[in-house]
Amino acid sequence: MTHYRAVKGTRDIFPEEVVIWQYLEGVVRRVASLYGFHEIRTPVFEYTDLFQRSIGATTDIVGKEMFTFQPDPRSRSITLRPEMTAGVMRAFLQKGMASSAPVHKLFYISDLFRKERPQAGRQRQFCQFGAELIGASSPPAVAEVISYMMHVFRDLGLKGLKLRINTLGDLEDRHRYREALKAYFSPYRDELDEPSRERLEKNPLRILDSKHPRVREIVAGAPLLTEYVRPEARAEFERVLGYLDERSIDFVEDPLLVRGLDYYCHTAFEVQCDELGAQDALGGGGRYDGLARELGSRQDLPAVGFAVGMERLLMAVEKQGLLSSLTALGPEVYVVLQDAALVDHALGLCGRLRDAGITAEMDLAGRSMKAQMREANKTGARHALFVGSEEVQKGVYGLKNLSSSSQESLDLEAILRQLGNH
Ligand code: AMP
Repeated sequence: MTHYRAVKGTRDIFPEEVVIWQYLEGVVRRVASLYGFHEIRTPVFEYTDLFQRSIGATTDIVGKEMFTFQPDPRSRSITLRPEMTAGVMRAFLQKGMASSAPVHKLFYISDLFRKERPQAGRQRQFCQFGAELIGASSPPAVAEVISYMMHVFRDLGLKGLKLRINTLGDLEDRHRYREALKAYFSPYRDELDEPSRERLEKNPLRILDSKHPRVREIVAGAPLLTEYVRPEARAEFERVLGYLDERSIDFVEDPLLVRGLDYYCHTAFEVQCDELGAQDALGGGGRYDGLARELGSRQDLPAVGFAVGMERLLMAVEKQGLLSSLTALGPEVYVVLQDAALVDHALGLCGRLRDAGITAEMDLAGRSMKAQMREANKTGARHALFVGSEEVQKGVYGLKNLSSSSQESLDLEAILRQLGNH
């Protein structure tokens, strides 16, 4: 073993697990196409001020979780993206996408970087799939985005997920609520835990997310956001809920759900999965109408989106036993050499098979026939093709079906015809 280790909070994904990733990504992409979401890929790093501006300087992400560096002393500070929405909106505005169509539906599967304390379900490099619908955030648009997310979960077979949903009201409602929370929590300042005390001044809404037992008791008596949401915003929210009902998407209204990022307004939502343990949030999202202007757009751009952690999604499908039928596909043919001297001939055969679109493998380590047969079975190959000096002379090979154990002698043309039909 080498003394080099993967960096804390990162992990390798080996071929057995890549099969699962490809399956999940396949479902994400297939469902995206059903809804007309198109994939976007943006750079892994952006200028730091993009995140400061969009996510909000008082959030944990910007405050302490960003990997930030300066390529050289005179260049602008750069940050590894801690989330996707800011980069997607930046790309959208930079290209002037708003002028080509009123509404754009984008999705991504991308790696993100946050300097959090690594633990189960929390890494420093992790992957999210998500969607951003830019140009509309009316109730049908919100319902469209939530439906896409829930459709992915449904197609994966996930059960018992809890979709919590709330309305944050418009930006003014939220501002009034923030002031009310400050006034409520201030007398309890000394009883709050350290992070909550810090949030009291800068972002009191975040205290509502606290898991600290005493803070939770105090939170129980806090004013509710619903009391500050005016009837217009409430009516819009009711329409969103109506659409979810129509699509048979179960949800629970949660007046304490606020989400950590500054740019959310109106509908916000989160999905929880019990099997995930302490880090039980699978994903979440909401409306962020104010972001485009925040990033310098002269035009208002209503928008709504979500992000789901892929590692947690994988953990959830694994824990619910939804991956049993998923195995790496072995080759159609494993060429078994009776004599190591025939390796060139075997390479030629593999070449002919592959040119005909038939997956083929052979031993490259000069192992015994017995070891080669073991390997053929281990890879999950469907056929073994025996190559000995007699076979080479006659041009006729033994083709064994490894599931039925039946064997026939065939020349290469017949083999190509037979296996090419698969
Ligand atoms: P957020 O962007 O913080 O709303 O996170 C959305 C989802 O991304 C979460 O519900 C998690 O599934 C996932 N996620 C966030 N942070 C991490 C992390 N550090 N490690 C793994 N997954 C994460």
